[in-house]
Amino acid sequence: MPAPQFHLTFGEQVAHHTEIAPEVRRAVANEPVYTHLGSIFHDLPYYGNMVAEAVRYFARRPAIDAPWAYRMHCIRPDRFVASFVRAARLVPGLTHDERLALVGGLLSHCALDLTLHPLVNYCARRDTATYGGFESFHHRITEKYHALFFHLERFGEDVIGQPEFYQKTRVVKRTSLARANAEPQIIAFMQEAYRGAYGNAPSGKLWSGWVRSFRHFGLMVGNKLAAANSKKKRKDDRLLERYHRCGEFDFDAFFVHSERRLVELVNLAWRYFEAADFSAEAEDRFCLEAHIDNLAEPDGLGLPPLPELPAIVTRPRRKIIRLPRRPHLDPADQHAASA
Ligand SMILES: [Zn+2]
Repeated sequence: MPAPQFHLTFGEQVAHHTEIAPEVRRAVANEPVYTHLGSIFHDLPYYGNMVAEAVRYFARRPAIDAPWAYRMHCIRPDRFVASFVRAARLVPGLTHDERLALVGGLLSHCALDLTLHPLVNYCARRDTATYGGFESFHHRITEKYHALFFHLERFGEDVIGQPEFYQKTRVVKRTSLARANAEPQIIAFMQEAYRGAYGNAPSGKLWSGWVRSFRHFGLMVGNKLAAANSKKKRKDDRLLERYHRCGEFDFDAFFVHSERRLVELVNLAWRYFEAADFSAEAEDRFCLEAHIDNLAEPDGLGLPPLPELPAIVTRPRRKIIRLPRRPHLDPADQHAASA
């Protein structure tokens, strides 16, 4: 999961690529809410409990496991995309633009994960080996700085800390900050997309809870405190060198492939959507052409080479399990033991 702000921006970019089918570009421009939903759909399960996640982040703890996110990223992610496109085409109650915005957004997520995860994984593993700590913590930090320097270099400003950012984290049309809620046709669509690939789906309540939590994330990072942090960090050249550009790699050399894959994948999904042939053979053909092998650990074919990872530094660690000196017995148990 590159950082959510990066996925949201990259989804919007579908509207600006002249090589992408004009129908999809128009839909993405007309339907920003569903474009954003498509672009973050794979990562929504990570927003199960925003408060717990935030505490873990500040304590440098590993991220909470999210089984639904794991499935979409790693268990036949191509089949999931095929099912998502089919549901976008067939589920009743959505407009044509809404359907195509969902598809454009989702494929943008795939394009970014497939082309940036090799670099993110490299940086996270390098830092875990060098400095210790949890890989998933270094993973999130790497993604945070990729997003920061990307936005600065491309648009001259970060999205984090801007009040408008909060609006982008509203990814369904019927929403409430307090209650988990979403329009019924989007719940039906979500369940159909999941079921077509995995046979089952999160409940509407669970899923709208993730959606609401994602808005809470928007509130947390759309404020002055986050803006001040972004302004401070961007001046630190060591961060730029560590994550973005140094003698060993250049973020831009990976990002050109993100844009190339974006055009390829969105056009391919659009043709699949338009043809509306969802037979097993057509699905196999789509999966073969899409080559969405694994969004978390992509094979990285065609991407720039990365250096070898450093050897892991072993330090004496605190014991993970500490046994109490004397077995502690409940008075009731003691009584039972002596009886
Ligand atoms: Zn992802």
